[in-house]
Amino acid sequence: MSEGRGNEHGHGHDHDQDRLSDTELRVRALESLLVDKGMVDPAALVETYETKVGPRNGARVVARAWTDPDYKDWLLRDGSAAIADLGYHGRQGENMYVVENTAEVHNLVVCTLCSCYPWPVLGLPPVWYKSAPYRSRAVIDPRGVLREFGTELADDVEVRVWDSTAELRYLVLPERPAGGEHMTAEELATIVTRNSMIGVEKVALPAREAAA
Ligand code: FE
Repeated sequence: MSEGRGNEHGHGHDHDQDRLSDTELRVRALESLLVDKGMVDPAALVETYETKVGPRNGARVVARAWTDPDYKDWLLRDGSAAIADLGYHGRQGENMYVVENTAEVHNLVVCTLCSCYPWPVLGLPPVWYKSAPYRSRAVIDPRGVLREFGTELADDVEVRVWDSTAELRYLVLPERPAGGEHMTAEELATIVTRNSMIGVEKVALPAREAAA
């Protein structure tokens, strides 16, 4: 039987790193163009892709699920279709599975073998997500990892860890914070962080909303 290189990884990893560096190359090309023209600070640009441009899509998905029960049902049943309905689809996001954080269950996403990540909804993965310590410790000691992100869970909360693959990417639907009931989906989208959709943090209301 002859098998190609794509079968080397037992759980369907399809040399995600190769494709990632492909994207990184394109980002770098754009970067150097803008830097040459004196338009941007390169570090700030990468930061923007990791924390703002990409995750904003996921944040809109979350905010809609928080404000539209039918959409939430659909999202949990068929993540790929519900996410594509908002216009977010494409490479590294073909098969999406959305997991819901509740008072009883906290979900955390990792890729133990490389860096599989749902690009259409979260953008580029942060450096720590690709690091060996996160990839191993998220499985061995998820509560310890969560604590390092400042996330303390009660002992009776069940922690579920999801290992991403080339075929299946996970998005965490964080718990909607109490308060801020009057906030619109657009306003709610602004408080949903990238880290909350990986599952390392919870979503908090801004101080002015929490006090209201
Ligand atoms: Fe991977």
